[in-house]
Amino acid sequence: EKKKLLRLKHTPTVTLDGQHIDLMANVEMPDDAPMALDSGAVGIGLFRSEFLFMNRQGQMPDEEEQFWAYRKTAEAMKGLPVSIRTIDIGADKPLDVKDNGGANYLSPLGLRAIRWSLSEPEMFLIQIRAILRASVFGKIKILIPMLAHAQEIDQTLELIQTAKNQLEAESISFDPGIQVGAMIEIPAAALALPLFIRRLDFLSIGTNDLIQYTLAIDRADNAVAHLYDPLHPAVLRLIASIIRDAKNAQMPVSVCGEMAGDASMTRVLLGMGLTDFSLHFKQLLSVKQEILRSDTQQLKSAVDSLLSAIEPEDIQAAFQKINA
Ligand code: PEP
Ligand code: MG
Repeated sequence: EKKKLLRLKHTPTVTLDGQHIDLMANVEMPDDAPMALDSGAVGIGLFRSEFLFMNRQGQMPDEEEQFWAYRKTAEAMKGLPVSIRTIDIGADKPLDVKDNGGANYLSPLGLRAIRWSLSEPEMFLIQIRAILRASVFGKIKILIPMLAHAQEIDQTLELIQTAKNQLEAESISFDPGIQVGAMIEIPAAALALPLFIRRLDFLSIGTNDLIQYTLAIDRADNAVAHLYDPLHPAVLRLIASIIRDAKNAQMPVSVCGEMAGDASMTRVLLGMGLTDFSLHFKQLLSVKQEILRSDTQQLKSAVDSLLSAIEPEDIQAAFQKINA
């Protein structure tokens, strides 16, 4: 079975009805990039930059260290797109196990991700400068986690402009047309998508957090893990609506949460119209295998039945039919 999958490595990712699908990789460190490229990924859809910052006893990586990490990743991908997500700490990813009195836990509803970055504008500017400087060494994009409010998007874009102005004044080169995108991972963002479509260049759906916040299930709390359900009708409808609204506005949209790497969800996402996936490179070939046997036109009606189902047994029946 594994050998059979390996044979798909150089097969183009195209559905039976000729739809080209982009499979990108999620990475945590620059050293993951060569493996991502080798797996056949056509870019990095999610570079989780917080891993550069975690467990360093409060010693943040400076601009130079960050610049080299981003540059190295971009160069390893040989011109393919690389979306660098700005620091997403908090909740399950504490900056430092000691920074919370040893509690090792911050509220998932609290000061995390872009909220934390906007509360530490000097830190954020250093990260943005490092990303901008690296952007001349490949095709880099900036991805912002956990946005929900128009003001947060505007404030973020202003800080990016400030970093650009600084570099310009210092005669340091960067890609002036660098794209900026948002993670859609808070239900409020999904339900107010035009705020994002108007202001940004692309969207990426973070299903891990979107499920957490839609169902009010703390991702890190084992006591409620059994209620964490990607097939809850509210979750499915929300994801379908994001993809539909983005496509209608000709806004590029991908899924980069764990759902993108779950082969049993591949045909569900294809039927919703998704054409861009970002996943762990180890899951790439099993997802590709599902894509190769799929006809997106046929899947659309099967997925419509899934989306109109509301009772668990109807959902299960529709889900099984999609994967048959
Ligand atoms: C997500 O929330 O789905 C996501 C991709 O981000 P993370 O898992 O790093 O929070
Ligand atoms: Mg997330």
